[in-house]
Amino acid sequence: MARTAVRGRLSWQVAEVAAITEETHSVRTIALNLPDWPGHHAGQHLDVRLTAEDGYSAERSYSIASADGEPVAITVERLEDGEVSPYLTQELRLGDQMEVRGPIGDWFTWSPHDGGPLLLIAGGSGVVPLRAILRHRQRSGSGVPVRLLYSSRTLADVIYREELDQYRGHAEVRYTLTRAQPPGWAGFSGRVDDAMLARVAWPASRRPLTFVCGPTAFVEAVAELLLARHYPASRVKTERFGGA
Ligand SMILES: Cc1cc2nc3c(=O)[nH]c(=O)nc-3n(C[C@H](O)[C@H](O)[C@H](O)COP(=O)(O)OP(=O)(O)OC[C@H]3O[C@@H](n4cnc5c(N)ncnc54)[C@H](O)[C@@H]3O)c2cc1C
Repeated sequence: MARTAVRGRLSWQVAEVAAITEETHSVRTIALNLPDWPGHHAGQHLDVRLTAEDGYSAERSYSIASADGEPVAITVERLEDGEVSPYLTQELRLGDQMEVRGPIGDWFTWSPHDGGPLLLIAGGSGVVPLRAILRHRQRSGSGVPVRLLYSSRTLADVIYREELDQYRGHAEVRYTLTRAQPPGWAGFSGRVDDAMLARVAWPASRRPLTFVCGPTAFVEAVAELLLARHYPASRVKTERFGGA
């Protein structure tokens, strides 16, 4: 890769908040106006840097929620005891500015020529880069078969629910709710386990291309289950968002 391209991706630039969408009680999507953005691929992330008036600054990574060619957006979940996410989800207003650099990460990405079948497994806000992949697949007219298994605490915590439900017919979208299920709930309940994967995952013989994203413990548990199902490690891509 050309040195100037790398330098461009690692340089901070000023982003302006162009739109805010409240997704759930604790999650919002922030669309950014980034005049010098070099473009991104579904699955990549960016870094955000916030600087206080006294010069103190904090940096965090956020997956890019939009597909290749779409304006950049991030989707942030508020951690009540967090430093940066409460600001982004409660204080930030339209027209505010923040510093951003990216796009970052070439491994956790998908494009139609990577093929499939695709298995996408998300825990909580880990659905963000997987949504970008689903959008990119849809926008590019790719017919690669795809299954999404998305674990949330409750139905009200499901991010992008309306959009994900619209993919049904083109993609197999399955939810599991770990804390509470509404009356008559027909999806899965509880944490992702081997029995759930037995019903959702492609057979290993089809060499699925798998993307797993979410809190670190979730990603590690799911990756172990997939390897035990003889999924080829080189085709299981993981992104850990942090946390215990
Ligand atoms: C590559 C990458 C992509 C990411 N993409 C997203 C994204 O799309 N959306 C998003 O909301 N977050 C994403 N994150 C997480 C994000 O970078 C921050 O860690 C998160 O917003 C918490 O920051 P904070 O300053 O509010 O909390 P902090 O003050 O950093 O942490 C507060 C407490 O929460 C714990 N914690 C930190 N992160 C998590 C987590 N993910 N789950 C559970 N506990 C946690 C910490 O261990 C600490 O105890 C991503 C992280 C990485 C590395």
